[in-house]
Amino acid sequence: MKDKIYLFANWKMYLDFDESNILANGLAGEAKKFGHEIKMAIFPSTLSLYTAGQVLRDVGVGVGPQNVFWVDKGGYTGEISASMYKTAGCDYALVGHSERRQQFHETNHEVRQKMDACLSVGLTPVLCVGETLKEREAGTTAEVVEIQLRSALDNISWPKNVALIIAYEPVWAISKGAGAGEEGRHCDDIEAEKMHRLIKKIVKNLLPNMEPAVLFGGSVRPNTTAYYLNQPSIDGVLVGAASTKLDSWLEIVKNAGALV
Ligand code: PEP
Repeated sequence: MKDKIYLFANWKMYLDFDESNILANGLAGEAKKFGHEIKMAIFPSTLSLYTAGQVLRDVGVGVGPQNVFWVDKGGYTGEISASMYKTAGCDYALVGHSERRQQFHETNHEVRQKMDACLSVGLTPVLCVGETLKEREAGTTAEVVEIQLRSALDNISWPKNVALIIAYEPVWAISKGAGAGEEGRHCDDIEAEKMHRLIKKIVKNLLPNMEPAVLFGGSVRPNTTAYYLNQPSIDGVLVGAASTKLDSWLEIVKNAGALV
């Protein structure tokens, strides 16, 4: 049994404005069934963040963007700053998601700037780390993840009232079947647990006073939710595809709820 389970949903660019609002309203309608031990946050597209956030925050579900920019204001066409998200009512922000690192060439240095920007305005960053298939096959998983953690957290000044949340997402296991009978590689629960333990150990050295929550992400499905959450160092899950349909997300919530 766990005291608390984090269920975070990354809607990526899967849902348009109407679809996001329909899902947010559907979810809000079910929220009284969620126990207090479930800490839920939704990361919709920026377009629907405000309207979805209005219904979700009212029922105790946190919201945040999938990315932030580190400068507060200025001539940065197309960007939105951490401080702007904060004043629009956001609680969290995904930082350093692998799709941003890979497709938009986001560097560890930029990830750090985004971490600092979030913390300076009181937005809780959800730091995403994880190795690519190439890095895993080269045997450099631990090294890659340690470098990502160090550059994001070394000498950082962490406000007392902000939680430290990390998502371990092996890149090779994202958007795959993950034991759900679909095609693709999945990260097994023992391997995930080993990485979560390592992450907690590295973070303890960097920020000795902090107790990080480490979430697993990588094609989690309703039928693999408990499989991962039963591991002692896995404090929650960050879910992409399976969080974008109300029935599948509610099943994930139900399966997680049975473990608290
Ligand atoms: C993600 O990209 O954060 C993620 C975990 O996606 P999926 O669940 O679709 O693999």
